[in-house]
Amino acid sequence: MSIETLANHPSIPAESDPVMSSLFSPEGFDESVMATYGRFPLALERGQGSKVWDTNGKEYLDFVAGIATCTLGHAHPVMVETVTQQMQKLHHVSNLYYIPVQGELAKWLIEHSCADSVFFCNSGAEANEGAIKLARKYAHTVLGIKQPVILTAHASFHGRTLATITATGQPKYQQNFDPLMPGFHYVPYNDIAAIETAIAQLDADERKVAAILLEPLQGEGGVRPGDVAYFQQIRKICDEKGILLILDEVQVGMGRTGKFWGYENLGIEPDIFTSAKGLGGGIPIGATLCKQFCNVFQPGDHASTFGGNPFVCAVALSVCQTLEKEHLLQNVEQRGEQLRQGLKAIATNYPDHITEVRGWGLINGMELNADTKLTAADIVKACMAEGLLLVPAGAKVVRFVPPLIVTAPEVDQALKAIQRGIAAAIG
Ligand SMILES: *Cc1c(COP(=O)(O)O)cnc(C)c1O
Repeated sequence: MSIETLANHPSIPAESDPVMSSLFSPEGFDESVMATYGRFPLALERGQGSKVWDTNGKEYLDFVAGIATCTLGHAHPVMVETVTQQMQKLHHVSNLYYIPVQGELAKWLIEHSCADSVFFCNSGAEANEGAIKLARKYAHTVLGIKQPVILTAHASFHGRTLATITATGQPKYQQNFDPLMPGFHYVPYNDIAAIETAIAQLDADERKVAAILLEPLQGEGGVRPGDVAYFQQIRKICDEKGILLILDEVQVGMGRTGKFWGYENLGIEPDIFTSAKGLGGGIPIGATLCKQFCNVFQPGDHASTFGGNPFVCAVALSVCQTLEKEHLLQNVEQRGEQLRQGLKAIATNYPDHITEVRGWGLINGMELNADTKLTAADIVKACMAEGLLLVPAGAKVVRFVPPLIVTAPEVDQALKAIQRGIAAAIG
């Protein structure tokens, strides 16, 4: 994820940075925990709603939300109550037995999506692994394809397991981890001619395309929304050729865009899709969902020890029900509009530095001019000093993914902090 890429970023402050050092007491952390993340020198201790506090008591507006995960913010009373009650009742058994609340969560997801069936796991990468396995089994057993290929997009992000870094169309995530998984091929995003050419070429090569795996909006790759016409044409191609359309909804699903699923913004339905980040509001859970015709898993094909345990399913179900009860999709649309308008107004003051503001609902990006030195990390760092947490999506895009419960005054407060942060970063 982009926060990890900050490890290589010279503009992220070292521990000795005078602005940041007072906020940070690593206490042996870096000696004991593998250095897989380029961490901000900031330790968060407590949260409430859209706000978090660090170990020195400084308050921040959290427009990262655990990277588009804490949809109900921090310490939401419904989550606190559900977690407590479910722990007291039963937290983990095994999928060897029926878990009623898992069934209830699956039913909720089916009723609020185009899916007919759900497999539960623990993360986005795992959800995508499930989707890849499902598509390959479908290709072998139904389509009779011996060497199935899955098309994915440049600048995509699908996770950190071996299959999902292979699916991820960004070499920086694959470097030094080869040999990668066979059976993937990459195309530019939002380019229909490229996908048609790739399918024809692979066909001629006896390497048939079994599935196309895409994000409805590329999150880590720079908050790049999918084109409606592009996705509608892909849906058509998939229908004509019997290719499965898999959508990675890990970052944009579960209400983040103002609709339950990212694909609703594109006027199409996938055959398989995946969910994770927002699904449990910050409790680790992932899901692979599919339509009945490609529901080819049988007992023994796929499994997860923790997947769909009573604890995570009870919490995720309470998150789903709260999205509806508190009319949060409407809030996402309104707050998203407010945020985008405010960001666009700020951008007009810096035409040399900010090239675009874009996004859906409460996933938005501010793209910086590639020809200037200014990086997303510079802005993130400056806004942190102003009491606002943000996260880059690549070197040149600042990402805004607040909790879906964020209020109008909080969005205004964030915009003021951004205004100050950008002024400070640009100097
Ligand atoms: C975050 C993300 C993943 C990986 O999810 P993990 O839970 O970190 O494994 C996969 N796909 C997309 C689109 C993501 O944003």
